[in-house]
Amino acid sequence: MEITEIQVDGYEKVARCRDDETGLHALIAVHDTTLGPSLGGMRLLPYVSEDEALFDVLRLSKGMTYKSAVAETGLGGGKSVIIGDPAKIKSPALFEAMGRFVESFGGKYITAEDMNIGIADLENVNKTTKYVTGLSREKGSSGNPSPYTARGCFQGARATAEEAWGSDDFNGRTVVMQGVGAVGLPFALMLQEAGAKLIICDINHEYAVKLGKEHGFEVIPDAGHHQVECDIYAPCARGAGLNDETIPELNCKAVAGCANNVLLEERHADMLKERGIVYAPDYVINAGGIINVGVEVSPDGYNEEVAIERVDRVYNNLKAVYDVARRDDISTLTASGRLAEERIEAARATA
Ligand code: NAD
Repeated sequence: MEITEIQVDGYEKVARCRDDETGLHALIAVHDTTLGPSLGGMRLLPYVSEDEALFDVLRLSKGMTYKSAVAETGLGGGKSVIIGDPAKIKSPALFEAMGRFVESFGGKYITAEDMNIGIADLENVNKTTKYVTGLSREKGSSGNPSPYTARGCFQGARATAEEAWGSDDFNGRTVVMQGVGAVGLPFALMLQEAGAKLIICDINHEYAVKLGKEHGFEVIPDAGHHQVECDIYAPCARGAGLNDETIPELNCKAVAGCANNVLLEERHADMLKERGIVYAPDYVINAGGIINVGVEVSPDGYNEEVAIERVDRVYNNLKAVYDVARRDDISTLTASGRLAEERIEAARATA
């Protein structure tokens, strides 16, 4: 196995691992550990080149620094990627080798699930390093993050409602949600419980119809759903749904959903601001899962009560983001970046 460091400005440590025996070709990037050890998922994708993989791991690890800083998880930002075809390269030996690569960071990088990586893979990683989170509850881990992500989204929706119409009362309010999966469904139920009327759509329309019957949600086709009049539009399916075409067609007061990378480009946050639509930045509102994992790596270990109390702070985090946005007359996305940087700078100054 050969591990080589790659020098990248602005990153604490980036390294490549090649292991001929198992076919492992992977990269780990630690962006910043000012606020704590870096944590971020392990992703397996058939990148066409190492440059493409490097671009992805750098972008994602920096994103984790910002996400954790705003969420106050006590963690820094890191990420890992394995280059290869998920259908072909997976083997216990490959993940054990990956574990040795993670171990070589001496705890500066802690890994977790991400695209094409499941608990069984992480269990193999765990044979050669202890720096793994998100294993089963029986192993003292924090378990499935989705319910916590949903809970955080609900808290974030409350803060967003206060910003958009001055109250977190959802009675008489309408939410259009795209994607009612592991996070979307529990989030929808919490909004409904708080008084909101739910209008849902999903690429799997039959499944949405079934949920509609079970829970009393109105169901609409996925096509054109973003144009439907509502108070909150909650994208909970996929990324890049908000772009030059869709933003002018939105008919909502606020956007607050769990999906990652909701905006096609950062400038779309400015477009939402210009339209007077309150945007809950995706990585701030969907941080419940990482907050829950953060409890797992805290010195006292995982504790559900502590996790819930911390997840509920997504409300405060969004309030802080909206305060900065108003203070500096900037988009909420720029504001969350500024808030993250202010928190990292403050920690550096007292270190
Ligand atoms: P999921 O796969 O359980 O649910 C996604 C739902 O969206 C499914 O019902 C699916 O049929 C539907 N869907 C997929 N593509 C669609 C499309 N193009 N149009 C309409 N519907 C579509 O996933 P999830 O875990 O609920 O995650 C949803 C989003 O939240 C993702 O963007 C994910 O990255 C993000 N997220 C999830 C977590 C978590 O804890 N699970 C944490 C942070 C962010």
